[in-house]
Amino acid sequence: MPGITRRSLLAASVAGLSRLTPLAAQTPSRKPTIGIQIGAVSFVDEGVEPVLDILQSKGRVNTLFVAAFTYGRGIAGRQVPGQPLPDHGKQQYDTDTFHGGSYTAVHSRYYSNTSLRDMRAPDLGNFDVFEAVLPAAKKRGLKTIAWFEDVFRADTPGVRELEERDLQGRNATTLCFNNPGYRNFLLDLVEDYSRTWDLDGIMWGSERQGALSNALGSRHGGGNWDPARVTCFCEYCQKKAAARGISFERARAGFEQLTEFVRSGQKGTKPTDGYYVELWRLMLRYPELLAWENLWHDSLRETYQAIYTKIKSIKPAMGVGWHIWHNNSFSPIYRAEQDLKVLGPYSDFLKIVIYHNVAGERMAQYIGNVGRVAYGDVPKEELLRFHYDILGYKDEGSTEQIAKKGFSSDYVLRETQRARAGLAGVKTLLWPGIDIDIPTGAANSKCTPAGTRDAVLAAFHGGADGVILSRKYSEMKLANLAGAGEAIQSLGLG
Ligand SMILES: [Zn+2]
Repeated sequence: MPGITRRSLLAASVAGLSRLTPLAAQTPSRKPTIGIQIGAVSFVDEGVEPVLDILQSKGRVNTLFVAAFTYGRGIAGRQVPGQPLPDHGKQQYDTDTFHGGSYTAVHSRYYSNTSLRDMRAPDLGNFDVFEAVLPAAKKRGLKTIAWFEDVFRADTPGVRELEERDLQGRNATTLCFNNPGYRNFLLDLVEDYSRTWDLDGIMWGSERQGALSNALGSRHGGGNWDPARVTCFCEYCQKKAAARGISFERARAGFEQLTEFVRSGQKGTKPTDGYYVELWRLMLRYPELLAWENLWHDSLRETYQAIYTKIKSIKPAMGVGWHIWHNNSFSPIYRAEQDLKVLGPYSDFLKIVIYHNVAGERMAQYIGNVGRVAYGDVPKEELLRFHYDILGYKDEGSTEQIAKKGFSSDYVLRETQRARAGLAGVKTLLWPGIDIDIPTGAANSKCTPAGTRDAVLAAFHGGADGVILSRKYSEMKLANLAGAGEAIQSLGLG
């Protein structure tokens, strides 16, 4: 780019971003990863070559994160029903046809240690996303990472015995990491992918948390949560707790009292000493509440390690990493549970979700949840500003304003900088997840080309090693994808 430096362009583009520092983290020899998450349906609807043309020309993408296994609509299928269809792909919802599962062949020889069966997604017939996409991607020099998540459906054969259990032993729709049948399934699946396909990496994501956080509603979404349905208290978790000297009976008694506390809070009955004091009283009386929460997250981390070790034993050069849930941006409890230095040794890369636009709506939801019980004594707007302070954000505005305008690119900058600092001394690559048209309420803020561009600039400015355009190509407007591409180009990165 003659006559104009990367620095001056950046300064011009992110004017308004605070705390400008150089793009120090960029290693000149390493090409940054410009990734995009994409589901199989887009290749079927639009054709492999035309889609790759668009991703490369508009988004400057060099890495595909292909949603290979999920029962969730967040990363697979067409646009979520009820949201406007984007300006590409079939102009029709897949409400009746979406099912989910594996969008690539399931080789049964790898799955002998799990009860799960019939995981092949029926939605797209015999279409195998890796068979169709890998040769075309390779020809273009694009990398491909298999991407899958921890979302299941209750009618999958063999799933019931792998499900988590709540306090009364009832089945949940989530699966338990301590259940050998689920752990084996995850390891079998990555073995199948690693041995069958010539992939550059595998990314897995779990958007869940432990029983204490869930009982307190410490998350975005899920506004009418039932504190009695939290997990996991299955026989495997009980056994694991016992081995650590944590009493299941004490935990159960604590969670029963917590359930009462949360239910009266949800009805608006304030405890005599206030919500916050009463919560502390419960945690002091039953430290098992915290121990059970930590047990859940230790089990998730052990699952990461097991997946990492399995893949490396098959193909050491393959990259292995994790998608870190957006709740990391809202709940200080969940953030405390994401200790990047601890994750580092078994993470070649981390996709930290830093979705700027939907963050506003989600933060407002989170404040609404925790403001009902845990912080029921605190006026909502004060509670929001308290969270800006403890999470290290600038004041992004009131709950109403943030839902209407999203978070600024300053949030992306700060979150990237924080993650970068958290990873100091470890080799893990940092690829923030960038929001392109993640659905929001009809009256709430929508992504724009300039907003997407600024989010990408902020990520690199904050020291990212790449970005992952999210959540799925089938919900993105092309102009917003091009906003990301414009940032990549202006930085001279692709
Ligand atoms: Zn369990």
